[in-house]
Amino acid sequence: MKIAFIGLGNMGGGMAANQAKAGRTVTAFDLSTEALDRAKAAGCLAATSVVEAVKDADVVITMLPAGPHVMKVYAEQVIGAAPTSALLVDCSTIDVDTARKVAGLAQEAGYAFADAPVSGGTAAAEAGTLAFMVGCDEAVLARVEAALEPMSRITIRAGDHGAGQAAKICNNMLLGISMIGTCEAIALAERLGLEPERFFEIASKSSGQCWSVTSYYPWPGPVPTAPSNRGYEGGFATAMMLKDLKLAQDAAAKAGASTPLGTQAEAMYALFDRLGYGGRDFSAMLQFLRGDLDS
Ligand code: NAD
Repeated sequence: MKIAFIGLGNMGGGMAANQAKAGRTVTAFDLSTEALDRAKAAGCLAATSVVEAVKDADVVITMLPAGPHVMKVYAEQVIGAAPTSALLVDCSTIDVDTARKVAGLAQEAGYAFADAPVSGGTAAAEAGTLAFMVGCDEAVLARVEAALEPMSRITIRAGDHGAGQAAKICNNMLLGISMIGTCEAIALAERLGLEPERFFEIASKSSGQCWSVTSYYPWPGPVPTAPSNRGYEGGFATAMMLKDLKLAQDAAAKAGASTPLGTQAEAMYALFDRLGYGGRDFSAMLQFLRGDLDS
């Protein structure tokens, strides 16, 4: 399988490397020469442009920052340059409307297309254990699964074009809200004289249980792998959570959906970001709520 991989940043670098490790021929391109050099060191072939990278690909995979990049790369460089037999898979997190527009352009030109955003951060990208949420025609799902296999722990079809992006932003809106709720509960527990470690033992086995408690507890100790144990470094940055919450709010406004807690979560992460903590893991919301940002 010949893969063209466009966008070799924090996520795409590890993902392209796993395609090469699986023995596939990976022709890679990024605007950054450093990113391209890292991909070469990981066994990819370096192309000098998107057009060159995709020209005889079986599968084109993109991992780009946002909707405008995805639209530009597909409309101006992939569609028409890749063979129409190629499967096009965009793994970036972008707005649902742009995903549907790009899918429409691709289909009109005769390509099979899938939006396939991921859950899991850079560690999962490097380990090949990402979860993919896919929006595509049912008939192409098997091809999409085969294309994503070296990068994935699980691939789930959410529905037709755009449904992968819808699943991603709804999931992350829920995560953003549940993390703030978890942090508020811990901050209150502490004020009431209840040890946060003890609260973990209870909440993780009671009806307050959720992923933010059981797998990502924002107080150091109970979940050793959580970023709270390493000064809230690494993990999922506040700025990235904010990007996803904004996408959710834009989508909610367009769809006429009421998302009052999503609105509030976006405002809180925007404030935290504006205070200069965009690089800190999103579970550092606990420090913000405790009024102890230097702890
Ligand atoms: P990044 O900024 O590290 O990488 C994006 C890469 O795209 C950069 O190397 C950039 O040079 C390249 N690029 C931009 N325009 C290009 C163009 N026209 N042609 C070729 N290359 C181009 O971003 P990232 O952290 O890898 O994230 C990529 C996507 O994955 C985003 O949509 C993000 O929301 C999503 N995502 C990120 C994470 C995470 O933890 N980082 C987790 C899940 C999803």
